[in-house]
Amino acid sequence: MRTFTYKVPSSIRQATSDFGQSSDFLAGGTTLIDLMKLEVMTPSQLVDINRLPMRGIELASDGLRIGALEKMSDVAENQEVVANYPVISQALLKSASAQLRNMASMGGNLLQRTRCGYFRDVSTPCNKRQPGSGCPAIDGWNRTHAILGTSSSCVATHPSDLAVALVALDASILLQSENNNRLMKLDDFYQVPGETPDKENQLRPGELITEIVVPRLDFAQRSTYVKVRDRESYEFALCSAAVALDIRDSRIADARVAAGGVATVPWRLPAVEAALRGAPATVESFEAATEVAADGAKPLRDNGFKVSLLKRTIVRALLEGSRL
Ligand code: SF4
Repeated sequence: MRTFTYKVPSSIRQATSDFGQSSDFLAGGTTLIDLMKLEVMTPSQLVDINRLPMRGIELASDGLRIGALEKMSDVAENQEVVANYPVISQALLKSASAQLRNMASMGGNLLQRTRCGYFRDVSTPCNKRQPGSGCPAIDGWNRTHAILGTSSSCVATHPSDLAVALVALDASILLQSENNNRLMKLDDFYQVPGETPDKENQLRPGELITEIVVPRLDFAQRSTYVKVRDRESYEFALCSAAVALDIRDSRIADARVAAGGVATVPWRLPAVEAALRGAPATVESFEAATEVAADGAKPLRDNGFKVSLLKRTIVRALLEGSRL
């Protein structure tokens, strides 16, 4: 690890104004410290934001607000979250390990970096880590990589389970900088790699995620998160699905569906949602609706199985959601 300076600001304003070139914000550190040890990230200054007033979990009539410094474990176990947005709690509990969930912040979870092995190995090229150096995953080891939202520059999956649940719920994030606050839909925040895989989202230098805002959605009480992975715990998704269903008189009045582990960003599936609306809440309807889930997919040598896995994962989540 290289040497760096360390600052502890006393206010959000000071934190954002202290942020300089080659600075990084430090919250739980569960991604950043790992990547600093590997020399994938080499900030010359860390701005420790852990004492800033960015906490709280508040359920109001218009929805849920979660401070960005809340720990994953605290949000997962919050009874208002469990009762009203079970998909958030489940996505968190299926992330990482108990120890990591006790340290990792909600905002940091949304900004975690890809688990692509080439990205984490500085002895190999990687367009995301070093723009223009190449993408060895495209012709290399790519079983866990993306089939949707890819480009000829990068095929890495987005690693966050939480982000998939929040995108399904139409959540937004509050972004604060020295002179500006802006609220942005999480779905608009992430960007597919295109020719600039090093640019992963709309965050500006010195800007902080301070709050997560989840709008009220009554049928979110009937929401669930299914995660398929190589082992049952402490593993990233090969494929996941976040769904919420509004079922009335055995028919689907409304649906939310998003997928993880298969795309370069959390992947909302509006075509699947449209196919579900008005259909009977049966396994036949679920299977028919997921026929379009992988439209536009570009499987690589080792990950073609994700096309059918995606459809089956969504069907399983819909079945679980319809039984709630
Ligand atoms: Fe780097 Fe993306 Fe290619 Fe992985 S898939 S090696 S992160 S450019």
